Amino acid sequence: MSPVEAPPMQMPQRTAAFGLTAETQYDKCVALARNLWWSWHAEVINLFRDLDPIRWRQLDHNPIALLAEFTPERLEMRAAELVLYSRINQAYRRLKEYVAEIPPWGRTHAGVLGGKPVAYFSLEFGVHESIPVYSGGLGVLSGDHIKSASGLGVPLVALGLFYDQGYFKQHLDINGWQNEEYLDTKVENLPMEPALGPDGKPITVRIDTRQGKLLAKVWLMNVGRVRLYLLDCDVPSNSPEDRELTARLYGGDNRTRVRQELVAGVGGMRALSALGIHPGVYHLNEGHSAFATIEAIRVRMKDDGMSFDTALRDVAQHTVFTTHTPVPAGHDRFDRNLIEEHLGPLRDELGISTEQLMGLGRVEPQNEHETFCMTVLGLKLSRRANAVSSLHGHVTRRMWAHLWPWRVEEEIPIGHITNGVHIESWLAWQMQQLYDRYFPANWMRRMGEPDVWQGIHEIDPGELWETHYALKNLLLAFVRRRISRQCRRRGESDEAVEAARNILDPNILTLGFGRRFATYKRAAMILSDPDRLAQMVNDPERPVQIIFAGKAHPADEPGKQLIQRIANLRHDPRFASRIAFVEDYDINVCRHLIQGVDVWMNNPRRPLEASGTSGQKAVLNGALNLSILDGWWAEAYDGTNGFAIGHGTSHVDERVTDARDAADLYRVLIEEVIPLYYDRDVDGLPRHWIKRMMNSISSLAWRFSADRMVADYVRHAYLPAAGGLSCDMDVR
Ligand SMILES: *Cc1c(COP(=O)(O)O)cnc(C)c1O
Repeated sequence: MSPVEAPPMQMPQRTAAFGLTAETQYDKCVALARNLWWSWHAEVINLFRDLDPIRWRQLDHNPIALLAEFTPERLEMRAAELVLYSRINQAYRRLKEYVAEIPPWGRTHAGVLGGKPVAYFSLEFGVHESIPVYSGGLGVLSGDHIKSASGLGVPLVALGLFYDQGYFKQHLDINGWQNEEYLDTKVENLPMEPALGPDGKPITVRIDTRQGKLLAKVWLMNVGRVRLYLLDCDVPSNSPEDRELTARLYGGDNRTRVRQELVAGVGGMRALSALGIHPGVYHLNEGHSAFATIEAIRVRMKDDGMSFDTALRDVAQHTVFTTHTPVPAGHDRFDRNLIEEHLGPLRDELGISTEQLMGLGRVEPQNEHETFCMTVLGLKLSRRANAVSSLHGHVTRRMWAHLWPWRVEEEIPIGHITNGVHIESWLAWQMQQLYDRYFPANWMRRMGEPDVWQGIHEIDPGELWETHYALKNLLLAFVRRRISRQCRRRGESDEAVEAARNILDPNILTLGFGRRFATYKRAAMILSDPDRLAQMVNDPERPVQIIFAGKAHPADEPGKQLIQRIANLRHDPRFASRIAFVEDYDINVCRHLIQGVDVWMNNPRRPLEASGTSGQKAVLNGALNLSILDGWWAEAYDGTNGFAIGHGTSHVDERVTDARDAADLYRVLIEEVIPLYYDRDVDGLPRHWIKRMMNSISSLAWRFSADRMVADYVRHAYLPAAGGLSCDMDVR
């Protein structure tokens, strides 16, 4: 129906006929903005953007902040002007249907979890760029996990912390040095509300330490069908210092860290019970939240009268633990004083000694010199533990073999479930339109199935290339806008700002590199031979350009130096218009990059990349991966669906490995990537390249989707844990 036939005053009748409760266009938009379902539906995102495209961008794509700038009357006018009624009505109706439905997959495969859902614990959740409670890969993985659980209909509630300053915004100064800025998030601009208990009152949880009590209020965020609860220590009855406890992600010292983890684990469990939720499975995403198991033991002893040993076994039976860290130094460790201060009162209730409690976090329980390791706690208190890729599984079993000294490595009870990405969140809308025309009609509901993706080979190569080219142009426009803004903010000359508006060229092979600047990721590897790089970049026939982005941890000086080196290439005329550094890597920057580059480059020091997920996002949009055979790529690459750097080997001496990998990177670029890209047919199409894009999409998109990942967790971890069955996860 056109808006002319449906003027505003008739809307109530129309909506009543649809059985909806929100009446005005404004109320419907607010309802849409308050469930993060919108964040993976392009038609709703486009709707918000159309209301005011400039403010939408300026407000970090936050629809609640945007709607706050509208009165209901002005929104009605704008909707009439832009013919938005039917789009708003349709989006609203789809949301209502979505939240009311339990999809067939969930009913068939996860129905038994119904009354006793999975409680998924994580210290970060990356759901959308407008909600800054994530820093990077771990958070985005949690966000993608709960979105897929929502889509598949897996009964799951999620628990984390609310950081009112989140993670930092990155700005580079005139010397290319990273500065960190923490912004206060306005709670009223987030899709959160106080979580209410069965009595309708807001919930506050209390945790006693040896030094006094710690309180946290609980927020609720709706992510499709999944409820995400976030604990927040900014409550008046806490000391001023404790009110700041959850202000920042990865801020503060080890004491801050143990207190945050206490709130997330023990506080998270208490929040669940105050909400009247009785989980059948606890999934600890990384060791950070493993204190939850200790609280679970306490509750079983108190409520069910179990002994400590029986309660421990019972909790372990229902706990699934996922580890992500392939280096020993990356695991949280706390000394005895910190553990006693924070877990002491809980320990009293368990009736165990300090040594017994410490033993739960030690490889050798009696070893007084060992600190308390959260990963060890997670491994001991879960019957199902997993790494996040096949290779990471091997590394993890070797790393923790001494926990099971009587077993050979293959028998270490740690399996693997390879990470995946939430397709609707990362697939470009333009690409989705194309797939819609060639894939089976219900493909969006069957994205974890291989057959669905075979349709990619039916697509006209020219059409696929054109769609990719359009996305690449959008990326370049984004980068130019960002770089010129960066120059302006640094107070650079008008010429510099103008030059930034013209950098990069859509007809040049474009490599993207976006990730945390941890040293093992070796961001500057491609700069190891600057003259050779300059030659490649400026080749008159077959040039290359590179877009970099990424943050270094505030305390990581070497990481910041790498950023500085790359950012300052803009002062070198050989690189000025061909190498760009985009500041403030986040979900938004990542989305632009992986949707628009030709090649997504990843060269970590093997085997330190547990999985990596950004390359999986790139696959969906037709970018080709060029990567070390590490993490997910070690099991994904088949010789026809991307490019490998090296042969999956590493030397005991890091310097040898680094030199060898750098040589391999140049070799594969010069011998394979560049020739294939510039090999054009009479129509100017790189046929063989396009074939590789298709191979990449058809062989990888379904396998490395979060739908496949969550289905694996349900089958191999959640269902056995809920039923108390033994471990059947694939160990090798
Ligand atoms: C996907 C994503 C990551 C994780 O990607 P890696 O391949 O592990 O680096 C990190 N940060 C952001 C913002 C992301 O969107």
